[in-house]
Formats: sequence, C-alpha cells, structure tokens
Amino acid sequence: MIPLERPKISTAFENRLTTKSKSLAEESADTKKARETWKTARTIRRDLKELLAGMAAGFVRCMYCGDSLGTDIDHFKPIAQDPLSAFIWSNHFLACSHCNSNKKRDQYPCSPSGECLLVDPSKEDPYDHIRLNLPTGKYLGRTDKGNETIRVFGLSRPDLELGRAHAYVRCESMLRDWSAQIGGGREDSAKAVLTALTVQPFADVLYAMIKKSYAPGAASIFHPVVLAALREVRENGKMT
Ligand SMILES: [Zn+2]
Repeated sequence: MIPLERPKISTAFENRLTTKSKSLAEESADTKKARETWKTARTIRRDLKELLAGMAAGFVRCMYCGDSLGTDIDHFKPIAQDPLSAFIWSNHFLACSHCNSNKKRDQYPCSPSGECLLVDPSKEDPYDHIRLNLPTGKYLGRTDKGNETIRVFGLSRPDLELGRAHAYVRCESMLRDWSAQIGGGREDSAKAVLTALTVQPFADVLYAMIKKSYAPGAASIFHPVVLAALREVRENGKMT
C-alpha cells in the first residue's frame, strides 16, 4: 500500500453523487436499498471506475495489495455499516476481487473510541503504520491500525510476500541499470528503465526502498549505486 492522491472531481459529477446520497437519505435507505441503488447506478459506477483508474498506481493496480488489476469499486466504509455513504467519493477505492470480496468484505474495525483502524491511503501515509521487510516481502504492523490493515486486507498472503520479495530484486537490478545508463550518457534508455520501474506492480516495494534510503543505516541496507539512484528517483519526484 502506498499513499494515493485522490483527484478532485468535477462539480457536475459531485452533484450526481450528491443527488444519489440525498435520495438514499430521504428514503432512510437500509443496506439492501443502498446496495440496489448502487447496483443500478451503472453510469456513475463506470465514471467512478475511470477516475479511480487514474488515481491507482502503475497500470490500474489494486489500491490495497498493489499486485492485481483493480477491478472492483470498494466502499472503504462498507455499505452494510453505512448505507448512506454508498455514493461518497472519498469512500471509494479500486480493489482487486481478492482483496475486496475474499478478504475485506464488510469489515471496518474501529478502536473503542470509534477511530477507524484501517489505513486510508488517500488520507495518510501507510508507511507510518506498516513497515516492509524488503528481502522477505513481509509486512510488519507498527501500530494497531497497521496490524488491522494487514489482517483485514490479507496483506500477509504468501503470494504477496513472495511477489514483494521478487519485486525488491527487480527494483535493485533496475536501479543499477538506470544508473549505468545515466553514467553512459544514454538518456533515453535511462528514462525507459525509470518508467518501467515506476509503473510495475508492487509499487509499495519501491516506495519502501525510497523511504529507507533516507533513514539512518541506509548505507548498510543498499549498495552505494542503488542508494544514490534511489535518492535521485525521489528527488526527481517519482513515487513520492
Ligand atoms: Zn488487491
């Protein structure tokens, strides 16, 4: 999971969403009614998907696992718990069917004081709550919210951990290649490597590498060439 910038939607589209929300409120819609209304709002769902696709990392990757194609619109606060938030733009994320239907479903854990215990990547930096062990691809919760986020989205799935571990090897290799292309004055090749690096699945791996490149002890984690390349990637405004 990486931070995502939620684009501002047009006034016209905002009005369409507000009209739907108002109508649900006027009918005091329950879960069943809200789900039916959501299901029949085909053009709104289509337009939302398009907006979310532009917000997602890489080639429309799931906003939770970062691996699979984002195919479903997930209600961060589930319709089952808040039917009236079905058409609220800030409540929508793009998820793969595994994260959405097999893992998260209607879960929305809260602390005793009522604070949501899931990281909202459009409002906060997941890295503040979850750390990634790069060689193993394992996530480690740093806070209760981090632990719940890992549990609810199933971010410790073996396929994801293996995928992240392999992505780390790829990122290191590509950063070395990028550095070599720059050193050889091959600007176009360097640019192509950088583009491929920043759109590949598991964007959380490169994001964690960049974060770690600025942390104490970075020199003991990364080869000097990789470390210098990571800092340049960050300074060029990629991934942060
Ligand atoms: Zn997913």
